[in-house]
Amino acid sequence: MKVWKKYEEYLMKGEWHVHTNYTDGRNSVDELCKKAQNIGIPLIAFTEHVRKDLKYDFSSFLNDIDRAKEEYELILLSGCEAKVLPNGELDVNPDILKEVEYPIFAFHAFPKSLDIYLDSLKQVLKNKYVCTWAHPGAFLKKEGLELPEKELKTIFTLMNKKDILLEINKKYEVPKKKWKEIANEHNVQFVRGNDIHSKYKLKM
Ligand SMILES: [Zn+2]
Ligand SMILES: [Zn+2]
Repeated sequence: MKVWKKYEEYLMKGEWHVHTNYTDGRNSVDELCKKAQNIGIPLIAFTEHVRKDLKYDFSSFLNDIDRAKEEYELILLSGCEAKVLPNGELDVNPDILKEVEYPIFAFHAFPKSLDIYLDSLKQVLKNKYVCTWAHPGAFLKKEGLELPEKELKTIFTLMNKKDILLEINKKYEVPKKKWKEIANEHNVQFVRGNDIHSKYKLKM
């Protein structure tokens, strides 16, 4: 069972996409927890950027979260944000994917090709560890590409079957309305993830 299922009631109340100063975020795990507790956010998922070749100490990141779990009255989840590669793999060490509670995936730099995008996406959705499609459609929006409705239906059917969530991301203003409607029809669940890089962006 995916860990997020235990916290289903917090899917839209928590902040499920947060970066720290281990990568490009400005604040520490501790500073973010302090802010969340102050303003009454009940749950934080720390989804730090990862690569196969990591440039920071991932176990130290996990230790920080463990320590914060003892110190704060918050639900805290360890996680990672892994980039989809054009061969359908994720740019992450498989051990990390298994170890964290909430791994999410996203398209960042990627070839401008709908075919490669779709093939990769479908392959990633078969990965049993991934929990959420982060900023869904942001890459397509940037590149001016559009997924056919038929394909969207296939994808959302697969996501529903695999318990993969669709992130509602205000920073990128995705997914678009049409996507939400189709996802809804296919009983895909939504999760609030705003790609937080600073404690000042944390909001109720
Ligand atoms: Zn991202
Ligand atoms: Zn992110």
